[in-house]
Amino acid sequence: MTCPKCNDTLSVVYFGTDIEVKRCNNCAGIFARREMLQRIRDEWLVESIIDVGANSRHSVSVEPGTDVICPACGAVMDPVRDDQQKHIVIDVCSSCDSVFLDPGELTDMKTVTLIDHIRKLLGKFS
Ligand SMILES: [Zn+2]
Ligand SMILES: [Zn+2]
Repeated sequence: MTCPKCNDTLSVVYFGTDIEVKRCNNCAGIFARREMLQRIRDEWLVESIIDVGANSRHSVSVEPGTDVICPACGAVMDPVRDDQQKHIVIDVCSSCDSVFLDPGELTDMKTVTLIDHIRKLLGKFS
């Protein structure tokens, strides 16, 4: 399977027994099933293992207007704004229910999620 952004090879990365994603060897973008993304969001610290591109200089930007093709099924992926954090736009394949995250996006999602959790906790005591 090849990266939809830079055409390099996607390698399988595991976390524990139930999380499996594919990560690009070059740009460190992450390709995963949508249900897997939800699992990653619920799992503590998983992004520090998986999202190694968060601090890298390798980030690949695709020209605006260029189609991102799903590496699993070949359909065009749609840029979709994240429900919970509107500044994050991820590529979603509605045909096979997969997502592609640029390096750092997973960390970004999780960071705000953590802050939200703390806010919720604090709310309980106020
Ligand atoms: Zn790539
Ligand atoms: Zn697809």
